Amino acid sequence: MGLEYAGGIGRWQDPAIGRNGSSPEDGVSENGSSDGVEKVLIIGSGPAGWTAAIYAARASLDPVVYVGVPKQDPGPVLPGGQLMLTTEVENYPGFPEGVQGPEMMMKFEEQAKRFGTRVIGEDITECDFSTDGSPHTLRTSGGQTVRAHAVIISTGATANWLGLENEMRLAQTGGGVSACAVCDGALPAFRDQHVAVVGGGDTAMEEATYLTKFASKVSVIHRRDELRASKVMQERFLSKPNAEVLWNKTVVDVHGEEKISGVRLKDTVTGEEADLGVKGLFVAIGHTPATKFIRDTGLEFDDAGYLELKTRSSATNIQGVFGAGDVSDAQYRQAVTAAGMGCQAALDAEHYLGAKGLA
Ligand SMILES: Cc1cc2nc3c(=O)[nH]c(=O)nc-3n(C[C@H](O)[C@H](O)[C@H](O)COP(=O)(O)OP(=O)(O)OC[C@H]3O[C@@H](n4cnc5c(N)ncnc54)[C@H](O)[C@@H]3O)c2cc1C
Repeated sequence: MGLEYAGGIGRWQDPAIGRNGSSPEDGVSENGSSDGVEKVLIIGSGPAGWTAAIYAARASLDPVVYVGVPKQDPGPVLPGGQLMLTTEVENYPGFPEGVQGPEMMMKFEEQAKRFGTRVIGEDITECDFSTDGSPHTLRTSGGQTVRAHAVIISTGATANWLGLENEMRLAQTGGGVSACAVCDGALPAFRDQHVAVVGGGDTAMEEATYLTKFASKVSVIHRRDELRASKVMQERFLSKPNAEVLWNKTVVDVHGEEKISGVRLKDTVTGEEADLGVKGLFVAIGHTPATKFIRDTGLEFDDAGYLELKTRSSATNIQGVFGAGDVSDAQYRQAVTAAGMGCQAALDAEHYLGAKGLA
């Protein structure tokens, strides 16, 4: 994109100016280790990646974080992760008044840098984990090759969006469009209001059922005449007095300037369009884990593409490769669980390096 990360979320600069005060160079990237191999290389700069960096840096492992570049994959992805796309975060412990998502991620980054974490504004595009235990070789979007004894993959999972212009605008400005009911459903804006949920799978049912606690009415908008969700999940939702399903409908537009006032629905059978007045729209059409770039490395994944971890550990099936956060967690997908997994990954990496006499 012509711009390069200059340390600090949202701070992008021309590559000619250099990175973190140093000149850009080709070939193997600079690092703090004497053998030219990073001890701990962290891919991703959401809560998982920064927490891993804080722990690794405080353990004198001199971590480097590849924060990623802004992209659509398939929804918007930014350095700083999914919380860069939201406004108020009310459920992260330590912020009794709540905190803006981007502000929180700046604080994570500041804390990681305070202990010496190095930060690079590039993607990791390829990984060669074939050596299984020896240094791993990675390729960056800047065309460099880097080697690392331990790699922590914390590339997150992008919420799938409908792809409507007004949907994204209102999602990013706190206008009442969200991809996470557990995160946002309890906010005052949705209490005793009519809200809509788009989707038909188990996640959509779970999100819709959760919202019935707060909203006056929850309308699930589904494009077909039957739901994909399991019977038990459907029944749990439909047993609520304020639940309904609008069959054979898709959302073709979202209305409202600063706050959502309604959605435009199209009937998938008749083609007719009509407006539905709602004060909240929750998009629950799945997530896409950011694992495309590591699919052919020998790592193991579940059917949905999430990185498989060993139970109660961040270890993958490959030595020296660890996973943390939403990239390996289809179930909880919260900032605090991602941060906890980042901590686990750094401690596991430290243990692994210690056993090899490298920590
Ligand atoms: C709209 C919205 C609102 C939310 N609100 C809340 C909330 O209020 N409370 C809460 O607890 N949770 C909330 N969540 C969920 C929370 O954001 C996620 O659970 C959390 O961000 C996951 O953290 P992570 O570190 O695993 O991944 P992410 O935050 O997704 O970060 C992944 C990082 O990896 C980087 N990356 C991806 N691929 C590469 C690559 N190849 N190379 C280098 N870098 C790469 C990306 O740039 C990104 O920085 C919300 C989510 C959304 C979408």
